[in-house]
Amino acid sequence: MPEYAPLGSYRRGDLIVLRKGGHFPAYCIKCGAPTMGGPIKRKFSQKTGFASSVVGTANLIAPWLGGIAAAGWLATRETEWLEIPMCAQHKDNYQTARALGLTLMIGSGVTFVILAIVRTPLPFFLADTGLLICGAVSFNGFLNVRAVTVDPQICILQGAASSFLSHLPVEELSPPKTAG
Ligand SMILES: [Zn+2]
Repeated sequence: MPEYAPLGSYRRGDLIVLRKGGHFPAYCIKCGAPTMGGPIKRKFSQKTGFASSVVGTANLIAPWLGGIAAAGWLATRETEWLEIPMCAQHKDNYQTARALGLTLMIGSGVTFVILAIVRTPLPFFLADTGLLICGAVSFNGFLNVRAVTVDPQICILQGAASSFLSHLPVEELSPPKTAG
């Protein structure tokens, strides 16, 4: 791949804009260091205020209605798998956090069953719920990069390191000016 081939990714302020078919330059999204290995694959979805307010309102009417609204939103929302470049160190941290999170979630799930069988008092269930939440947070991998817009044509992400952003060309919003 030639170094100056168009990437299809741009910076817009502190946002990353990825056009359809584009990819990111080979620099770590967390620290801006050049990356050697392959990127991580991550599914992004748009978290809109509108969707959460619809789910919230449905929840107020009836919890089961909120559940249906949430399931409907999960089934119909736009998602995209993106390849996120990371240096060896950050990829290692990410994968360790994911593995730890998964272990915690499975472990707390098994513990729930055991606690239910031996009829443990409520505080133990609450402690186990805490473990489950910690697991879910860790499973997210502390990526800190969130999707602002997820669309088949364009994805806009927030939270990349400024040292990564500096490797991206600034997005040209107006049509290119012709000289003369
Ligand atoms: Zn890094």
